[in-house]
Amino acid sequence: MVKPFMPQLVYFEPKALDYPLGQQLFEKFTELGKEIRYTTSHNQVRNLPGENDFQRYRIAKSTLVVGLRKTLKFDTSKPSAEYAIPFATGCMGHCHYCYLQTTMGSKPYIRTYVNVDEILEAAQNYMDERAPEITRFEASCTSDIVGIDHLTHTLKRAIEYFGQTDLGRLRFVTKFSHVDHLLDAKHNGRTRFRFSMNADYVIKYFEPGTSRLAERIEAAVKVAHAGYPLGFIIAPIYLFEGWQEGYRELFERLSHDLPDDTKGDITFELIQHRFTKPAKKVIQKNYPMTKLELDEEKRRYKWGKYGIGKYIYPKDEEAEMKETLFEYIHTYFPEGKIEYFT
Ligand code: SF4
Repeated sequence: MVKPFMPQLVYFEPKALDYPLGQQLFEKFTELGKEIRYTTSHNQVRNLPGENDFQRYRIAKSTLVVGLRKTLKFDTSKPSAEYAIPFATGCMGHCHYCYLQTTMGSKPYIRTYVNVDEILEAAQNYMDERAPEITRFEASCTSDIVGIDHLTHTLKRAIEYFGQTDLGRLRFVTKFSHVDHLLDAKHNGRTRFRFSMNADYVIKYFEPGTSRLAERIEAAVKVAHAGYPLGFIIAPIYLFEGWQEGYRELFERLSHDLPDDTKGDITFELIQHRFTKPAKKVIQKNYPMTKLELDEEKRRYKWGKYGIGKYIYPKDEEAEMKETLFEYIHTYFPEGKIEYFT
């Protein structure tokens, strides 16, 4: 069982202590006897212990920086939401194919922002601008927000904030099962709670440091009972020996455990495994023993933005994967909605 995240090392930006959440976290970590350091800005977080890049990377992933979100201009997050809402950056998980490895480069530590009111105020301005249209916010573009929320309860506040708006919607996705504190949040059906699910084999070999399949399913059941709109992102869909059976078992277990009356509203997002050349390099550096298939010859090249193309499965394998998973969803979740396959 994966325990809830607890940082080994905590940095505070001094201004963070002017905010109630900053104070609370300071008191909590002091009581727990954590090593606390100060930094004028997260960019100054240097001298992390460790003898080489490999060790420093692992230590960084268990380091928390408590600071302020300075840019309150949100990035867009099409197509699943209008905006990315920034509550945290970085993640304690060690998924071999994590996109954060390339986007966060040499700064893989986790940052949490304590100026939550200002972030929610900015969200309110975006909603006001778009009224009477609905505005959707995605909270997991730069982190696995649930993985850290048992410490901060920021996500819980956001869920309740959007719960009392008419035009705001919140969504996020997680690979963690530590959801208990979110179950009584007054979400009002305005938050879609998504879990990243995969075949047991894929989670076991490629997603160390995250909750196991059985734990994620158990958490999804609790979330369904709490009345949240629920969704599953099946990603990355990865072809391994016996994948058909592995994915069938996933949908069978989900369907067996979830309460029947919640199945009608479940959304599915399907994303096949892909990699770019720069990502391959970082993966091989950070996880040199990985069994992940990263052979360009076995893939199809798809042109991408900024000249960085990605390697996806060849057409015939892609078609077979798509057909198989669609069939499973139609069988086990006849009323489920498949939002996209990519
Ligand atoms: Fe990356 Fe998500 Fe895995 Fe965290 S849980 S390491 S954000 S893929």
